[in-house]
Amino acid sequence: MNNMTLTFPSRLENEAFARTSAVAFLMPLNPSVDEIMEIKTIIAEAVVNAMIHGYEQNQEGIITLKLEYDDQRTIHILVEDEGCGIADIDQAMQPLFTTKEHLERSGMGMTIMDTFADEFHITSGIGKGTKLEMTK
Ligand code: ATP
Ligand code: MG
Repeated sequence: MNNMTLTFPSRLENEAFARTSAVAFLMPLNPSVDEIMEIKTIIAEAVVNAMIHGYEQNQEGIITLKLEYDDQRTIHILVEDEGCGIADIDQAMQPLFTTKEHLERSGMGMTIMDTFADEFHITSGIGKGTKLEMTK
């Protein structure tokens, strides 16, 4: 029913841009404070993963954020990178699993997104990138 697409380079300052733009787009739905918090968190975790893991902090990588909502008020969220991809998705989904311990990551981002989203789906290819599709 309504949709938007943002593409932006993998620069850490764009994480705040992505999550505040998403909330602004969803304002016509009158989301609750809890819904806003959960959607912001989902987008922040997904975008930071694309920056830190997908593009390994290469600021030239492009991230795509798409949002869509329908008459039933279901929100579809897509976050996509064309970075390194995920070798083992089941392992990446495990709470506390991280490949970046030295960066003090806690390995909880995927678990948090999976918990806050109603549906959570990952597609990833090594050297091709990662696509997260969620509904809320
Ligand atoms: P935290 O999110 O708690 O700071 P984290 O990012 O390591 O730590 P998760 O977000 O759960 O934890 O991700 C788990 C692992 O999945 C990452 O350590 C990384 O190896 C892999 N991963 C996640 N997103 C991507 C991505 N977009 N591209 C490549 N690898 C990814
Ligand atoms: Mg993470």
